[in-house]
Amino acid sequence: AGSAFTVGSAAAAAIAPSGIRAVADLAWRTPGTLQLQMGEPSHPTPPHVVEALAQAARDGATRYGPTPGIPALREAAAAKVARVNGLSVSPDDVTVCAGGVEGLGATYRALLDAGDEVLVPDPGWPNLGTLAVVCGAVPVGYPLLAGDRPGPDLDALEGLVTPRTRVLVVNSPSNPTGGGFDAAVLEDVLGWAARHGLWVVADECYDEMWLDDPQPCAALVAERLRASGRPAPEVVSVFSLSKTHAMTGFRLGYICTPPALTPVVRRVQETTLSCVSTPTQWAGAAALGGPQDHVEEMRAAYRARRDRCSAQLGDQWALTLATRPSGAFYLWLAYAGDEPSTDLARRLVVDHQVALAPGRAFGPAGEGHLRVSLASADDVLAEGLHRVVAALTA
Ligand code: PLP
Repeated sequence: AGSAFTVGSAAAAAIAPSGIRAVADLAWRTPGTLQLQMGEPSHPTPPHVVEALAQAARDGATRYGPTPGIPALREAAAAKVARVNGLSVSPDDVTVCAGGVEGLGATYRALLDAGDEVLVPDPGWPNLGTLAVVCGAVPVGYPLLAGDRPGPDLDALEGLVTPRTRVLVVNSPSNPTGGGFDAAVLEDVLGWAARHGLWVVADECYDEMWLDDPQPCAALVAERLRASGRPAPEVVSVFSLSKTHAMTGFRLGYICTPPALTPVVRRVQETTLSCVSTPTQWAGAAALGGPQDHVEEMRAAYRARRDRCSAQLGDQWALTLATRPSGAFYLWLAYAGDEPSTDLARRLVVDHQVALAPGRAFGPAGEGHLRVSLASADDVLAEGLHRVVAALTA
C-alpha cells in the first residue's frame, strides 16, 4: 500500500475504452432496447462457408499452417481483388490476417516506429488510432469533408503533416459516416501523400459495400496515377471478410502489400500470430471463391433501409443526415442541441430504450452526431428513429 506501483505499460494505459461498447453494454442491460449501434451484418453467414469450415476440420486441417496463409486462400484473394477491385496482385503479396483489425495492426507494426505520426480520419473507426498508440506511435486526426462529396480535407492535412508523419490512413466507404470517396477525391489525396513521401494504408473493410456506383479503391487509383506519370504513394490495402461475407466471428482478412513490404509484414505476423486458424482459412477460400449472391442481398437490404430511413427523416430539423451515405451500412446523423453525444446516447437508452453509437466515440469531430447501423431489421430501424426524433423534439 502507498507504493507508486501501477499495473501495465504506459502504451496500454493510453488506450481509450470504446465509447460504442459502453452504450452496447448499457443497452444489453436495459430490457426492450432497440439496438441500432452494432457495426455487424444482420445476415447469417452463408451456409457453404460454414460447411467449408466444418469440412476442413473433419479433413484434418487442424494444424499450424504457413505464416502468410494457405495457398488456396491467398490465390482466392488475388482472384477476388482482380475481379472486384481491378488490382493485379500476386498471391505472393497477399498475407492472410485475423480480421481487418489484426491486419491493420501488423501493417502499422511493419511501417511505424515509436514516435512516428499517423494521419487518421476524424471521425473514424476508433481502432485506426488506438492501434497506433499500442505501437508507441501517435495518431493525428484529420477532418473529413461532410456533405455531398465526402473526402479528406486536404487543406487541413497540409497543416497536420510534420517531419515525423509516416502514414496516411484512408477508409472509404467510411465507418462511421457512410461517405465514399470518388476517384477524383482519391487522386488528390494520394497525390498529396506522394508529395509528402507518406505511405498510404487503405482500410478496405467495406470495399464491396457500395450502395450506389462502386468507386475505385485507393490502390487502383495509385496504379492509375503511376501509369500516367504522376506522383503516387505506396499503398497497403487491408481487406476483411467480416462485413462482406457476414463472417465477423471468423476473424479473417488479407493484406495486399507492395512486394518490398511483404516480407516485413510476414516477419511481424510470424512473431505475433504464427498463422490464422487453418479451418477458418478454408472457410475464407469458400467465401471468396464461391457464390456471391449473399453480397448483393446485403447491399440491396442496406440500400433499401438507407432510402427508407432517409425518407422517414424527411425535413424535420432535429436529426439530419450529415453525409450522403453511399457505402458501408451506417447513417451519420447530426442532431440539434448541444448535449454531448455520449450523454445523449446514454439518455436515449435509459429513457427511450433505443441505442445508437455516440459520435464522440469516433473522434472529437464526431461530437454532435449519432451513428445508426443499417444492419438492423426494418421495423426496428423505423421505430428506433421515431423514438430518437421524438426524444429530441420533446
Ligand atoms: N475497419 C473498419 C472501418 C471497421 O469498421 C471495422 C469493423 O468494424 C474493421 C476495420 C475491422 O473489422 P474486422 O477486424 O472484423 O475485419
